[in-house]
Amino acid sequence: MKKIQVVTLFPEMFEGVLNNSMMWKAQNKGATEFTMINLREYGLGPRRTVDDTPYGGGDGMLLKPEPLFAAVEQAKRNDPTAKVLLMTPRGQRWKQATAQAYADSDNGYIFICGRYEGYDERIVSLVDQQVSVGDYVLTGGELPAMTIIDSIVRLIPGVLGGEASAEIESFSDGETLEFPQYTRPEDFRGMKVPEVLLSGNHAAIARWRAENSFKAE
Ligand code: SAH
Repeated sequence: MKKIQVVTLFPEMFEGVLNNSMMWKAQNKGATEFTMINLREYGLGPRRTVDDTPYGGGDGMLLKPEPLFAAVEQAKRNDPTAKVLLMTPRGQRWKQATAQAYADSDNGYIFICGRYEGYDERIVSLVDQQVSVGDYVLTGGELPAMTIIDSIVRLIPGVLGGEASAEIESFSDGETLEFPQYTRPEDFRGMKVPEVLLSGNHAAIARWRAENSFKAE
């Protein structure tokens, strides 16, 4: 059972993604368990304030350390050996190989989702890994966290239908992308399925697929 906890100001954003399809199935099978920790509940004062202006000036607001530390510390109490991941465009680029390693490990994970202009940098003292989903800036860490959670959970043994389907996918051998695939009908609006795929010649099909797998950048 892989425990996944998310510290976020927008827990409801996760409902559609985590409670449908494969992520829902993974929970039902007991392969994973998702816990949302609403940062707002750790906010300060009667208005449950979670943000403040940056020292040194500049636009926008930052997540304050007190609520953020309290929420992450609560998550750590729930799962003391969990690894803490901070969503940030400054982080290490998330990769299929990392998703595989995280799915294989027995650790739970705590995701911290930034918002506004980001967070007080001192939160890094509680973090095991800073992770980016790509060289672009999103409004918050929620979409990156969902992306990463999906990539891990579908690789937990028993979650995908056929174990082989994860092995032959894009990136699983480290560099090539999956070959093009087709399903019925054979002729759709004049666009025909490559002859070789209909041939039943497994060696020829394997060769065609190898030749038509695209290299990753
Ligand atoms: N001012 C920051 C961007 C803040 S975006 C900067 O210029 O770097 C608000 C939050 O969204 C970030 O704190 C982070 O948690 C999340 N985020 C945005 N883009 C991301 C990305 N590419 N990968 C991971 N997290 C991201």
